[in-house]
Amino acid sequence: MSSRVVDVLVPVALDQAYSYRVPDGAELAPGDIVAVPMGARDCLGVVWANNLAPNPRLHNRLKDVDSKLDYPPLKPELRQFVDWVAQYTLASRGMVLRMALRMGDLGPARQRVGVRLAGPQPVRMTAARARVLRALADGFTHVKGDAAREAGVSPGVIDGLIDEGTLESVVLPPEPLMRAPDPDFRKPDFSLGQLAAADALRLTVNQGGYTVTLLDGVTGSGKTEVYFEAVAENIRRGHQTLILMPEIALTAGFLDRFAARFGVRPAEWHSQLPPRRRARTWEAVAQDEVQVVVGARSALFLPYADLGLIVVDEEHDPAYKQEDGAHYHARDMAVVRGSIAKFPVVLASATPSVESEVNARRGRYRRLHLPERFGGAHLPQIEAIDMRTEGPPRGRFISPKLAEAVQHVLERREQALLFLNRRGYAPLTLCRACGFRLQCPNCDAWLVDHRFKRRLVCHHCGFSTPPPAECPKCHATESFAPVGPGVERLEQEAAELFAGARILVLSSDLVESIERLRAELDDVAQGRFDIVIGTQLVAKGHHFPKLNLVGIVDADLGLGNGDPRAAERTFQLLHQVVGRAGREEGRGQGFMQTHQPDHPVMKALIMGDREAFYKNEIELRERTGYPPFGRLASLIVSANERHAAEGYGRALASLAPKDENVRVLGPAEAPIAVVRGRHRFRLLVKSPRVFDLSSYMRDWLSGAPKPKGNLQLEVDIDPMSFY
Ligand code: ADP
Ligand code: ZN
Repeated sequence: MSSRVVDVLVPVALDQAYSYRVPDGAELAPGDIVAVPMGARDCLGVVWANNLAPNPRLHNRLKDVDSKLDYPPLKPELRQFVDWVAQYTLASRGMVLRMALRMGDLGPARQRVGVRLAGPQPVRMTAARARVLRALADGFTHVKGDAAREAGVSPGVIDGLIDEGTLESVVLPPEPLMRAPDPDFRKPDFSLGQLAAADALRLTVNQGGYTVTLLDGVTGSGKTEVYFEAVAENIRRGHQTLILMPEIALTAGFLDRFAARFGVRPAEWHSQLPPRRRARTWEAVAQDEVQVVVGARSALFLPYADLGLIVVDEEHDPAYKQEDGAHYHARDMAVVRGSIAKFPVVLASATPSVESEVNARRGRYRRLHLPERFGGAHLPQIEAIDMRTEGPPRGRFISPKLAEAVQHVLERREQALLFLNRRGYAPLTLCRACGFRLQCPNCDAWLVDHRFKRRLVCHHCGFSTPPPAECPKCHATESFAPVGPGVERLEQEAAELFAGARILVLSSDLVESIERLRAELDDVAQGRFDIVIGTQLVAKGHHFPKLNLVGIVDADLGLGNGDPRAAERTFQLLHQVVGRAGREEGRGQGFMQTHQPDHPVMKALIMGDREAFYKNEIELRERTGYPPFGRLASLIVSANERHAAEGYGRALASLAPKDENVRVLGPAEAPIAVVRGRHRFRLLVKSPRVFDLSSYMRDWLSGAPKPKGNLQLEVDIDPMSFY
């Protein structure tokens, strides 16, 4: 019997690694991916350590490792990263490891089958069959799955046609590997300012080692072109690059831009990747067959063979914070990954997070500055429209002044963007007869009217229902009135105001597929629409050459809800949105409809005085001890019964270890007190910056009773949302 023992971490919600015997004749080392018995079944795991001094009394009770899988081992830097993230976020190590093993269904590459036209017309013709024949009418061989998708039929329809001899199947060679990007495919001519930044980045990559650079450039200054030089240098040096994007699915033009610079598209990694592509990409990344990955935050956990650079684009974006499962901030963890594996990290933004801004000011990060738009285009002029005095009539949302500006733009055959960060038709529906408000049965929230879909929807739990025929309270009919605007209502108003204009509404709930969205964004870029009405979906990174006017319909929307980051977020979002205007011709104009034109955020935006915003905000954070001058952690307790949640929250608070560095606030009922039928209470924990809050929290929670029954406890270190 074998005497060697290894500790194996499995991707389930457990912190500890379990000991298994190494079967005789097998060689296992830390990092190896193995199959081990777990309860009644086999489970994937990773050898985390050699267990050099196993307990001899337990030895006989240990199970054997089943087999070693034929994949490259997880490198020490990735294992160390998993440990670090788990230690910091208090997520279990198994759950963090799970993100690194999310490769979907590996296994031998499935044979690819192609189909092509072969013989006679089918005996029985159906609409579905006709579509298949049309899709294959070109006579070429199509991948079977693609043909089914193109024709909009199930693979069974195609099988039927093969059986009848109308089509024949052909075995195709395996999917081609991604071709290597060419660092010198098409280099841009840089302006002097760009060149200086590009040179500095090239040098940084060339020297290697851990550094963080904040690439701080106004919208349209060419940050992407500039950091591509860092990517090019990293490719030349033979290392892999990760470019993180806040919402990969939406960055329509980015892949093409990459291809224009490097000759091929990069590999993509995000949650919507089809399973086969996912498995193949995971493997190719591990085998060093992929040089550049463009991905959402989960791409941080891929098993890179030789990662040498991470670029975090739009580093300030709140989408980098993952809020379910393991709560982690991908920008911060990118910096951690760079420091563990000792390579450079580049953070790019026109409106850096207050955290990164402070790090740059204190010299912890190096700043590269691009203060001008490329090609001499000017930043848009921004004007406030005071809704207290210049607002539209009741029940309308576009002020006369904004309407006039849009009209001018349309006459010049340019585009306008109306921005409203609210999906649906109206955020609230009430009964005019009795004042009853339509509310979600599961949540402490109003139902949002989605007229395009003819449903009332809860944005917190997804509950939806057709609009009721009568008021549930007073039974009046036809008594419902919408209150406030969403993008769908705005479209109605715009269609009335601007007759004949081609209007497109872009909102995440209306997106049927990524392909469709990409096509729509392309339509906008090609000038096939005159007015775009959109939520934050349109705020990010898109380049619309004909767009010269941006109207912010409700600039106050994100302010004043007790969220300590509300000002920062509003500033970043509005700055970003207005930055969509005038990127090509430099005649951009922005209008902000606001009830508080004197708010520091509005003033900074109108004056184009970014510095004023940061100065104000940094002073405020410093005075109040909020991040990055202090640390925060949230505990969110929820239960089916209000008193159970509150009671557990109180018990937790009373067990908090006494420490003069720490303040525990709450439990207080959460701003949204009920979600999915669960009552929620929050505790907020504050400490100075130089304090190990993660360890404090771990000590605290290990000494507290575990949540039982339907009680749930969520731990959020560095919380970004406070609802
Ligand atoms: P940012 O990311 O800072 O908003 P981009 O990198 O998207 O800016 O650049 C804005 C536009 O200017 C893009 O269309 C880009 O292709 C173009 N551009 C920037 N720098 C150059 C350059 N040196 N040569 C040619 N085009 C450039
Ligand atoms: Zn709900």
